[in-house]
Amino acid sequence: MSIFDKILDIYRDSYICKYCLGRMFSLLATETTNEERGKSLLLSLTMDNHKQYLSGNESNRKIAIENLQILAEKANYLPAQKVLEKEGVSNKLMNNELNCYLCNNIFLNLEEYIKYAKNYIKGIEFKNFLIGTSPSAKIINREDKFKAKLNIIEAESFKSHLNREVGKRLSEEINRPSEFNYPDLTIIYSISFNSFSIQLLLRSVFIYGRYKKFLRGIPQTRWPCHNCKDEGCKLCNFTGKQYETSVEELISPEFIKKSVAESSKFHGAGREDIDVRMLGTGRPFILELKNPKLRSLDLVELLDKVNIINKDKVEIINLEYTDKNHVIKMKENAENTKKTYKAIAESSKEVGITVFQEKLNQLKNIFENKTIDQRTPQRVAHRRADKIRDKKIYNIEGKFLKSNLFEFLIETQGGTYIKELISGDEGRTSPSFSEILEVPLKCIELDVLNIDY
Ligand SMILES: [Zn+2]
Ligand SMILES: [Zn+2]
Repeated sequence: MSIFDKILDIYRDSYICKYCLGRMFSLLATETTNEERGKSLLLSLTMDNHKQYLSGNESNRKIAIENLQILAEKANYLPAQKVLEKEGVSNKLMNNELNCYLCNNIFLNLEEYIKYAKNYIKGIEFKNFLIGTSPSAKIINREDKFKAKLNIIEAESFKSHLNREVGKRLSEEINRPSEFNYPDLTIIYSISFNSFSIQLLLRSVFIYGRYKKFLRGIPQTRWPCHNCKDEGCKLCNFTGKQYETSVEELISPEFIKKSVAESSKFHGAGREDIDVRMLGTGRPFILELKNPKLRSLDLVELLDKVNIINKDKVEIINLEYTDKNHVIKMKENAENTKKTYKAIAESSKEVGITVFQEKLNQLKNIFENKTIDQRTPQRVAHRRADKIRDKKIYNIEGKFLKSNLFEFLIETQGGTYIKELISGDEGRTSPSFSEILEVPLKCIELDVLNIDY
């Protein structure tokens, strides 16, 4: 069946607009648009029948008139109407209010879509954008049935056609390019035959930095209440939180405010225990700002502001823009970093200074540049898989403070459980400082001094 016969079949069935007509044959010919395809097909078909009418025999003339009448009346095509008029054949003129069976004239009224989007995105900072559409099931089903019935196999989908048309026009209007991989802004239209709505997705902004935590007793990230799981209850004073604040909650509000973001997510390169301070050069983190209306932030100003607000609690340094891949890389690398800790250990028995010095030498001999086996500590066993991990210890320095109080500087591989390295955790970490010193030791204070990253 020729394309021309197929077009006549289409219009015998229903009226469709020139955009939808072109879309039905979208896989044929390239470097053109569906609108051009639709227009050209109607014109060529009219010309072909006009010629047949002029030069054909009686039966050809009859067919030509029938075809021109379909084009004039059912496709509402003016050139065909004029040909019939000129040749003195009457035809019923259609009203111009006809609605396209496939799109209900959506493609003829795209101005409305563009205008609405332009208004909707006011105040949003973006360099590029992407259009997405979600046509209703009714639109999709109707088109699928139509194509199946008429055996149309060279069509493009409604969705990709509409995405491109809207994207092209909006791009011209707002003078910004479409971007398919990492658009700052994605505009999603939900479309039915009679209405549409818009939803915006704004690509997250990622900011890298390092934080120091000078307070003990606060977690790195917001910690939901054990009892109510964030609902709010008497135990948590209806805050939904187990701890009053966290590094995340101290740092992120200013960023959220300045970027007019919906929310944020705090990604740390590992985390210290709640009672452990993070000193020295700080711990790397990436703050993800979700759905931010503004993307160009003054990081120097933000850093100062956050540090003034959180004086003596937390401090942030070295802020810079980064991307999502960095978050994944940072998480992967957390285990391979070298960390230096300062630990204060308390002994339940007295140890003399000379004995301590002897034992310290033994400690250095046994641990330095060696690998230890560390089984998941009892205190985290409820949330971590119970397994044995190899951890490398690089360097140990010790200082006698009192006969039952010692200070250690310990340089280890990231992910080593320092409290258990000291106590032994009832044999789960072996060897341990307690084992070598032959007295039960407990880590009563711990600070992270440095993270090589
Ligand atoms: Zn249409
Ligand atoms: Zn609660």
